[in-house]
Amino acid sequence: MADLQGAPIVTLDVPVVGGSSVRATSGTAGLASAELDRSERFAQMRAGELGSVHSWELVTAVDGPGTRLTAFLSGCPLRCLYCHNPDTMEMRRGEPVTATEVLARLKRYAGVLRATKGGLTVSGGEPLMQPAFTARLLRGAKELGLHTAVDTSGFLGAHVSDEMLADIDLVLLDVKSGIPETYRRVTGRELAPTLEFGRRLAESGTEIWIRFVLVPGLTDDEANVEAVAEYAASLSSVTRVEVLPFHQMGRDKWASLGLTYELEGVQPPTPELVERVRAQFRCHALQVY
Ligand code: SF4
Repeated sequence: MADLQGAPIVTLDVPVVGGSSVRATSGTAGLASAELDRSERFAQMRAGELGSVHSWELVTAVDGPGTRLTAFLSGCPLRCLYCHNPDTMEMRRGEPVTATEVLARLKRYAGVLRATKGGLTVSGGEPLMQPAFTARLLRGAKELGLHTAVDTSGFLGAHVSDEMLADIDLVLLDVKSGIPETYRRVTGRELAPTLEFGRRLAESGTEIWIRFVLVPGLTDDEANVEAVAEYAASLSSVTRVEVLPFHQMGRDKWASLGLTYELEGVQPPTPELVERVRAQFRCHALQVY
């Protein structure tokens, strides 16, 4: 857990509302602060009352059904070569925000979120780096009668308690590769925990949307796509597969953080390649977007 000593506790400002399939980031601009000593911060983080938050958005038609408030938490154990938000990788880069504040803002929008059958999505970074905080947000959202989703790589799926799982309606499971060696090359980590978490979700009947980022020369190999497709098809609660074409929009962030970006010369996939990959998934009777 990050040492947040000296950092302010922040309150979330009002975000800009995005249109269909559009994101509108509020960041954490317009924040008020309060002071807590270090031991109290850690106690509150352990209890899930305090989290490290990168930003939040109101979105429509992404991150789950309906209109949603998506909260991006800071901290991630993976190091994906194509990460377009490398500033979310380190928990210490986030702002300390209380769950009470997030839920108060969520309550403000609850009417419109419910009316569109939307709700709360907890994303990152990796939300399961902060399981107590994530669980607290999900519980609060359920108490408001909202749909809940978690966007995760699944690498830390073991952090999800059965109680927390009961508060999750949908998991956006980012399967970055179906082959362990490729997964390690893309993320620096092991594939097995993700596969295991997906199987647990299926056994519990939790709805899953599989997300797969298509990167030419990195994840587009037919055998790799086939492995992801076979895995997705093996999970009875998968209702959708999203093939997300790689883009270069995160490139400048890597430079500004002083990080080495390895995909400098990689072009986005051609429409033909995207269609080939989507067709591979469709061959397994999956709904592909
Ligand atoms: S899992 Fe997501 S946030 Fe973490 S490094 Fe990969 S793309 Fe970035």
